[in-house]
Amino acid sequence: MSRILIIEDEESIADLEKDYLELSGFEVEVENRGDTGLEKALNGDYDLIVLDLMLPGVDGFEICKKVREKKDIPILMVSAKKDDIDKIRGLGLGADDYLTKPFSPSELVARVKAHLTRYERLVGAGSRSDVIEIRGLKIDKTARRVWVDGVEKPFTTKEFDLLTFLAENPNHVYSKEELFRRIWNMDSVGDIATVTVHIKKIREKIEFDTQNPQYIETIWGVGYRFKV
Ligand code: CA
Repeated sequence: MSRILIIEDEESIADLEKDYLELSGFEVEVENRGDTGLEKALNGDYDLIVLDLMLPGVDGFEICKKVREKKDIPILMVSAKKDDIDKIRGLGLGADDYLTKPFSPSELVARVKAHLTRYERLVGAGSRSDVIEIRGLKIDKTARRVWVDGVEKPFTTKEFDLLTFLAENPNHVYSKEELFRRIWNMDSVGDIATVTVHIKKIREKIEFDTQNPQYIETIWGVGYRFKV
């Protein structure tokens, strides 16, 4: 049975979420404070966390960041304000999904089920080294699939190869020439502008703000670097 931790300070909302999730067969625990919630999230054995943003003690931003440093379980963030959801996405804290209050409990249950299914599939897909996870970006090398903040994105073969190569070699600056040689396996033939085009397409899929990329950084006059 999957175990879910709800960190929510509004008791009526926490109770509603708990009731619906329990009715759907989940084992649920509730924490009403950010600090105790963070403690439980880090030390407990949960399969998914439903995380409110504004909390006493420690806020949802900090909890998400801290949990993500240690665990790759799905995190569903909940906020009363659409602006806050944009802010969370922009920060790239690695939350898997976002819900704006008020939401219907059945919507919550549907999302929880979807994320648990996806997570279990990823974990069960083989050794964890076949899955690269960096903040909200998840790359399954075996299945050749990519998710950004829990949403799957379609990738062409070369886009996937290029993204995976960069993500597997983080913080290393590669020139366009070198990337072209490695990904396209051609020493002299071809146009290195292909690399620029592919980087642009990858950014459109994985970056929240392509003008201010959080994953693939341009090093002017040199090339590209995958930031971690
Ligand atoms: Ca709150």
